[in-house]
Amino acid sequence: MSREAQGTIILSGHITREDKRSGDYRNLSFEVSPGIVRFDVQYDYTRTRFCESKAGHENVLDIGIFSPGAFDNQHVFRGWSGGARSEFFIGLDDATPGYLSGPLTAGIWTIVLGLYRIGDTGCDYTVTVMFTVGDEVFVLEETARDRIPDGVSGGSVWFVGDLQSHTHHSDAEASVEEIAAVARRRGLDFLAVTDHNTVSHHPELERFSSGDLLLLPGMEVTTYYGHANIWGLRDWVDFRYRESKEIPRVIQAAHAQDALISINHPHTDCSWEYGWVDGFDAIEVWQGLWNADNLAAVQWWDELLSEGKRIVGVGGSDRHQPRHYDPHFPHQVGTPATRVRASRLSTDAILTGIRAGHVTIAAEPGGPWISLRVIRGDGVRADIGDELTVYAGEELTVDCSIQGANNNTLELVSAGEVIEYRTVTSDNWHTQFSLHVNRTTYLRAQLHTGSEEAARERDSYPLFRALTNPIYIEILLSDDRMKDA
Ligand SMILES: [Zn+2]
Repeated sequence: MSREAQGTIILSGHITREDKRSGDYRNLSFEVSPGIVRFDVQYDYTRTRFCESKAGHENVLDIGIFSPGAFDNQHVFRGWSGGARSEFFIGLDDATPGYLSGPLTAGIWTIVLGLYRIGDTGCDYTVTVMFTVGDEVFVLEETARDRIPDGVSGGSVWFVGDLQSHTHHSDAEASVEEIAAVARRRGLDFLAVTDHNTVSHHPELERFSSGDLLLLPGMEVTTYYGHANIWGLRDWVDFRYRESKEIPRVIQAAHAQDALISINHPHTDCSWEYGWVDGFDAIEVWQGLWNADNLAAVQWWDELLSEGKRIVGVGGSDRHQPRHYDPHFPHQVGTPATRVRASRLSTDAILTGIRAGHVTIAAEPGGPWISLRVIRGDGVRADIGDELTVYAGEELTVDCSIQGANNNTLELVSAGEVIEYRTVTSDNWHTQFSLHVNRTTYLRAQLHTGSEEAARERDSYPLFRALTNPIYIEILLSDDRMKDA
């Protein structure tokens, strides 16, 4: 193989506040001629003064690249690094994490600058592309992306995992191999790797999965106005949206691949500004360590559930894994953990469990986990995520057990209101409530460290330790129950 440098292209320009108002992206085209085996891209821009926010400098430009073809065609996506890197390369068989190696099709390529933040005086940018030519023959191999493990069987019905994490394929430091090792140490059965706006980590997921750990393909659709996770996708999904009316296209793109899509951390400093859009499967109601933002997310979830929508609540650590694992750091992969009831440990089975709402969340992989069940007078019962049809006013039994939560307070929530409080009195605790329901509603449970008295007064900030998804109670007329039976 021979390689030689073959010239450089410099693309430069100026971006104003006005540009940002009319669009979030600037496309820069350049030509790749036949025979190119690699190119390296570097970029720089005027930062101006430092901004008093997590966003860093007043100007922030993201970057990514597309190969020739229809611009919205997912097959031409070749990588995205957001603001995490100042340079990247793409070669025939290797690329910077976040980017896809493979043939460097001759023709017009497009570098996309994401105008995340533009200050008053605007922003000058320079993008340098350096080409390498060679005679390397590219052999098209089947990618592992289409062979995500599907069939690793597990001995348990509930699998413990984490639905949001990041590697060096976007803005974290750890490789897929390193984050998989951390997930194993944390005792997880599955981990969704959801790097921002890219799928370049997918080919590695099978390699670092094993009988005891499933790495689930994911992508965090990261727009400037809100983030959403897609789980189980095969192909990249476009993220370049800015208005609520465009969001159904993202949902369709996910569902067209039988993937699930979830609104992430709706009330953080990267909050969800699009409002509710029908079609989302889930909401991340618990991100990282418990805090007031999560409480606000749970309240929004309750509002939507009270309107009759059936949306699954999930947790995600959103851990941006460093290279080295510090066992004493409080916010780890699996903080919080999400437990999914599934027939086996496979991507399809986990997604099926989430879709069905067979999901509970706990602060740590070790729990505490809440078991919840509603039982009708005739013995018919519904578990977390299921629906129970009942007569108006019929007596129901709510059965609940929790391990490892002595002195915590359990709350039973229906239509956004706490309808029962109980102090947990042992580490192996079981209780039953009797309940009469007169309208179609839902029941879910949550557990926190506040005292029952404080909880009743709501005079202190409760530190949640666990919560369940709802059991849906559907009021039916007697005739319907006959048909039902
Ligand atoms: Zn996010």
